[in-house]
Amino acid sequence: MLEVLPQIAKMQASYITGKPLANPLNVTVSVSYRCNSRCKTCNVWQRPNDDFTIEEYEKTFESIGRDAYWFTFSGGEPTLRKDLPEMVGAAYRHCRPGIINIPTNGIQDKIIPGRIERVLQAAPTSEVIINLSLDGVGEKHDIVRGVKGNFERAMRTYAGLKALKGRYKNFTLGVHTVISNFNIDEFENIYNFVYNELKPDSFISEIAEERVELDTVGMGITPPIHKYEPVINKLQDDIRRSEFTGVSRITQSFRDRYYDMVKRTLVEKRQIIPCLAGVASAQIAPNGDVWTCCIRAESVGNLREHNYDFMSVWTTPKADDLRHSIKAGECYCPLANASYTNMLCHVPTLSSVATEVGVITANSLLRGKQGRSSRLRNLPVINAVQEQSDKVGSKA
Ligand code: SF4
Repeated sequence: MLEVLPQIAKMQASYITGKPLANPLNVTVSVSYRCNSRCKTCNVWQRPNDDFTIEEYEKTFESIGRDAYWFTFSGGEPTLRKDLPEMVGAAYRHCRPGIINIPTNGIQDKIIPGRIERVLQAAPTSEVIINLSLDGVGEKHDIVRGVKGNFERAMRTYAGLKALKGRYKNFTLGVHTVISNFNIDEFENIYNFVYNELKPDSFISEIAEERVELDTVGMGITPPIHKYEPVINKLQDDIRRSEFTGVSRITQSFRDRYYDMVKRTLVEKRQIIPCLAGVASAQIAPNGDVWTCCIRAESVGNLREHNYDFMSVWTTPKADDLRHSIKAGECYCPLANASYTNMLCHVPTLSSVATEVGVITANSLLRGKQGRSSRLRNLPVINAVQEQSDKVGSKA
């Protein structure tokens, strides 16, 4: 984590001045709108395709260089692109990110494990986090995702991915659940299935949001706070009742605070801490448009028109306008990807996490409780590595 501190300082200075002093810490690359799911919570598959080529990604990642620490390759369904391993390889060569995050619907069960194995080989020193999307158990998953047989295929994919564990030290296998009005009543079932049957390295849950990117604005997919709050409380109870060691403790402290922020954002309808989208986090659309975030999805410029020079796009007048709007609090949301970056760049949050972790660690040492050692990671992000295996005497 220490290695990103200078970058965090640059992000804070950029936020204060409104002028980027470096490329973003967190870059999401939407590699295609193509998708073989038909989720009730997403219309992205209906958007026209004009995907970047691998050569275009090479030039773009070269221009970003070592500033970006956290990459997400999203979509659409990112594993539909045969050249996903080459894309990850290009990011690795030019940017050497600490963390690479890829979601998958798991539908192409015969193809995905092999493709992901090549991804793992392409980025040997990055922590590669693959999150299987799971929005229900059995047929309920298929109904939300709009594809018959999806659950069975996703389970086969999960088994194939799990078989890679142990062979690749840089591999974290997670499960990701989007909680919407279509599955909120099923959350308990999903939670129990994930923890008792799948036993992933990490389990993350995010509220379904209406996004311009996904063409879901006005669809009413977001559950009301009175229904979502018990879900968050359960996840927070689990964090607070468990004992973690090492970096997992830090990760869980951030996650606990994230859930607090989600609740407050939904109730207070404002940014709870400053949003550094447009400074510390960015998204690249499949056609090279650059956005400050996927919720607003307003292009600040297109990489093709700027010779694939990221900083050139990042400093357009439109980008300045958007940074100004975000700083003025003209938008708010609980988007996890941006929120974790915001917390990392927020000194009071960092300080409170450091204090909490220090107190817990000291107490554990005094009690002589050592816990199993955790695999060290550099940055606490939403996808906690080995959080299950690092739990000590949890869920009593
Ligand atoms: S608050 Fe949400 S919508 Fe506004 S810029 Fe940040 S991530 Fe985007």
